[in-house]
Amino acid sequence: MIEKLCIIGIGLIGGSLARALRYNGYVREVIGYGRSVGSLQQAVELGVIDRAEVSLPDAVRAADMIVLAVPVGNMAEILETLGPVLPDAAVVTDVGSVKGSVITSARAALGSRFTHFVPGHPLAGTEQSGVAASLPDLFTRRRVVLTPEPDTDADAQARVRAMWEAAGAEVATLTAADHDRLLAVSSHLPHMLAYCLVDMVVRHDEYRAIIENSAAGFSDTTRIAASDPVMWRDICLANRDALVVALRQYHDDLGAIVKAVEKGDGKWLCDTFTRAKHARAKLNKKI
Ligand code: NAP
Repeated sequence: MIEKLCIIGIGLIGGSLARALRYNGYVREVIGYGRSVGSLQQAVELGVIDRAEVSLPDAVRAADMIVLAVPVGNMAEILETLGPVLPDAAVVTDVGSVKGSVITSARAALGSRFTHFVPGHPLAGTEQSGVAASLPDLFTRRRVVLTPEPDTDADAQARVRAMWEAAGAEVATLTAADHDRLLAVSSHLPHMLAYCLVDMVVRHDEYRAIIENSAAGFSDTTRIAASDPVMWRDICLANRDALVVALRQYHDDLGAIVKAVEKGDGKWLCDTFTRAKHARAKLNKKI
């Protein structure tokens, strides 16, 4: 059980983790630290945290678990402030959607205490942001990937694993490089496609008529384009190498579809769609 949990960034993910751990009785006290007083007050009013702190050193004092749940682009500055005030007994983890860049920042900021930093990423979320959107069951039966480094302390890793299991999640481990390469395809690429499609339609001469005559296909494909643009800008930049590879591959494959449509190659199109349909039908059982 966690005695004093400090969550830095009480938004969708930080708030959902706090709710899940409180609901399951796995934490005695939850302290929230954040950027705006309004969001922190809301978190207290919603009963997501016990109390809020506007000073990071005060927030982490005597914490035995510290969770960084801010956007990826803000992790480095938070880690730099945290380094000098990190309590001896504390384990630190994060929920960032990219792991390589966060690990680099943590290694630089935490020095010898880097061993007690356990990088993590819950593969769960929604297109909503902020503590009001947080849910106690967001992580139930969802995967959380930990990407420990060779020098990550085994006990720290076990404590972070136990925290996520108490929140209802199933924990797996990957290397950071594998995580960033796989997530570039499974998560970051789909967000780029959704933003690109909506932006293309928004700039279309017949935008209004297109939307009025759209149905579930457009809505299903573009739900995630409602996600926070700052968060996704940060993810793109932090995982740019792997994301560029995925985008180029998709670009080439889309080019092949353009050619087949131009040529009227129905067999090629039907073979491609059939392969994808069968693969997607099997996926329904897993996701
Ligand atoms: P969110 O709802 O926008 O919450 C982010 C929180 O961080 C907000 O409370 C925000 O405060 C706070 N914050 C931002 N900059 C800060 C700073 N410099 N110092 C202190 N607090 C700061 O975002 P989220 O969706 O929970 O995402 C948080 C992290 O989870 C990101 O690293 C993201 O990559 C990762 N993640 C997201 C998802 C998803 O589906 N959304 C899934 C898995 C992982 P304000 O309220 O003042 O803005």
